[in-house]
Amino acid sequence: MAARNDGRALAEVLRSRMELEGSGFFVPSGERERLLSRVSRLRAAESPSGGKIAAAIGSLESIDSLRRLAESCTRCVLHETRRSVVFAEGPDHARVMCVGEAPGAREDETGVPFVGRAGQLLDRLLLSVGLAREDVYIANVLKCRPPGNRNPQPEEIEQCSPFLRRQVALVGPEVVIAFGTFAAQTLLGVRDSLGKLRGTVHAYEGVPLVATYHPAALLRNPQWTRPSWEDLQLVRRVLAEHSDG
Ligand code: SF4
Repeated sequence: MAARNDGRALAEVLRSRMELEGSGFFVPSGERERLLSRVSRLRAAESPSGGKIAAAIGSLESIDSLRRLAESCTRCVLHETRRSVVFAEGPDHARVMCVGEAPGAREDETGVPFVGRAGQLLDRLLLSVGLAREDVYIANVLKCRPPGNRNPQPEEIEQCSPFLRRQVALVGPEVVIAFGTFAAQTLLGVRDSLGKLRGTVHAYEGVPLVATYHPAALLRNPQWTRPSWEDLQLVRRVLAEHSDG
């Protein structure tokens, strides 16, 4: 009980400091992410609305109601700094679902996933296997932007991934493409590197899943273009088999 009260006190102090100084207040090196994660965990556990949301997500039967729930979500600390909840884009029952990591600055501004240079590269990658962006359902593991484009924290993924899992269930794609380490690890429930996970067809809840490099990483590492293209050939093959079957 004492530890829980200490935790609440810590959360309150950090909350006050964030309100006064913004999320960039000084904390000794290596401590800040750990403390922010702890605040996020405490808030999710203590928030009655957070608990209700967790129970509701799995029972929702339409993408629209899931979107509305996400748009009011306060399950993790990211709701405090977001401008938009970037839920998804694309038809509700697409054959292909693309999953990225988290919104960046442009996505946070526009509310649309995968815009900017990485988004344009995604469009080109999809076109290389005959897929138009407007025919694909595009979402991220996290629906709100991590400040400064830092990596998602484990607690944030834990709080947000029920939305993604429900999205996959409701969209019912023939294949999921996981772009980047966080998407692949979250959906497959493993800690393996992307280098190990790419190049083969996995299964997520019975749905074929292909993991490949995130377009933003591809922009920085053009030598990964060929392996990415090969991964997308796997996607093409899965779709062809589905059509034949
Ligand atoms: S990132 Fe996900 S869990 Fe966190 S506030 Fe946004 S919608 Fe909720």
